[in-house]
Amino acid sequence: MDQLFEIARKTFDTPEFRGITFIESEAKSIINRVPGGALPFDWTINPYRGCSHACVYCFARPTHTFLDMNAGRDFESKIVVKVNAPDVLRRELAAKRWKGDHIAMGTNTDPYQRAEGRYKLMRGILEALVDYRNPFSILTKGTLILRDVDLLQRAAEVTTVSAAFSIGTLDETVWRETEPGTPHPKARIDAIRTLTEAGIPAGVLMAPILPGISDRPVQLRELVEAAIDAGATHVSPILLHLRPGVREEFLPWLEEAHPDLVPRYLEMYRQPYGPKALRESLGRRVSSMVSAAGGIRRSAEPARRFSRRDRDRPPEPRDEQLRLL
Ligand code: SF4
Repeated sequence: MDQLFEIARKTFDTPEFRGITFIESEAKSIINRVPGGALPFDWTINPYRGCSHACVYCFARPTHTFLDMNAGRDFESKIVVKVNAPDVLRRELAAKRWKGDHIAMGTNTDPYQRAEGRYKLMRGILEALVDYRNPFSILTKGTLILRDVDLLQRAAEVTTVSAAFSIGTLDETVWRETEPGTPHPKARIDAIRTLTEAGIPAGVLMAPILPGISDRPVQLRELVEAAIDAGATHVSPILLHLRPGVREEFLPWLEEAHPDLVPRYLEMYRQPYGPKALRESLGRRVSSMVSAAGGIRRSAEPARRFSRRDRDRPPEPRDEQLRLL
């Protein structure tokens, strides 16, 4: 029912974002609890709903149906923008009930998708997290994150911060057919290098690995070696998940792009996470490739640990901060 408060304020198209409609809305709250308790964090911020990166396998697609839009083209092209996200976040970080827990971003839709180039919500969000010294992590496919390296560095001086890029393959053909709206995977590898050189720990989530499409040893090895060479602070694979709602979007795409694989997928995905043996063998294969590529390097500069005492110090006024620079 959370979505009910996000009532469209304004809807419009702009020439520089042809084919994308922005639906501006005002959120009542922005730090949301992660449902299920299965992930290693409890809180998340998602300034956008829908994602123009348009990945065919996207697990977040069904969330658009809660807003009376479809999980297909609407999810990719009708983007809900929570325009007041930074202001609401400041209010929530200042509240006595907020305990300064880790906040994960990029858990649902991508915070550095194309809309961010226009709305710059992440800059306001990062500024608030820096001012309140609140630990956070960002998962993205968007190289636009590099615009905010200055803020990420400031964050790393006062709290625990990390980034991860989701990169399923470096195979150009597979990238083009499965993630048509994303930056080139090699640009994402370059972004990891830039972030780690700037002292921001950045890893690679090899996700999702698509059986029969992006799981050949040569494909996995190429990605692992590029990630290690770029200084990735972690490299871990995830096999494709096909939960209800995503399955209905993915299988028609597979039928068209790889009809020969359909029987195999129907067999493998009788349950949403694929066969356990396949998941485990993928983990082992990647792990041995990481070792063969020289292993994970230690991050250059461990981020400072957040402490409750830090958080209780009030943020410095922004104009004062500017004067100090
Ligand atoms: S970048 Fe992430 S959220 Fe966006 S479409 Fe791809 S998988 Fe979905």
